[in-house]
Amino acid sequence: MDERLMAMTATMKATGAAKMLGIAKRMVATDPDVSGRDVLARLESAMAEEEAAATVAWVASEPDRADCIKCGGPVETDSRDRSRWIHSADGSRGCRAATFTVEDGWDETIPKSWNAAPKRSV
Ligand SMILES: [Zn+2]
Repeated sequence: MDERLMAMTATMKATGAAKMLGIAKRMVATDPDVSGRDVLARLESAMAEEEAAATVAWVASEPDRADCIKCGGPVETDSRDRSRWIHSADGSRGCRAATFTVEDGWDETIPKSWNAAPKRSV
């Protein structure tokens, strides 16, 4: 796995744990006699909210997909810039680049100026 991605995941886990600890600390500060069951119930509720928000974000981040209007290959929106389209096979913008294979090279019939674009607007 990508080292930066692993570091980002570890940071997110630490942030989540700190958030849960903050909730528990605030509950105890507000009511020093709060029961462990109440703290647990609040943490479970907070965790469910976090999971729901993560699911919404995950679904929203799903790329739009279509066939390329130029070359016909599958294309999708770039997760770094949703207004840009890339070829699904290799993440390239250029249609010709998306045809590259080690065995056959590029499809020389495809102009270098062609870039990924959806057949229908989404
Ligand atoms: Zn294309």
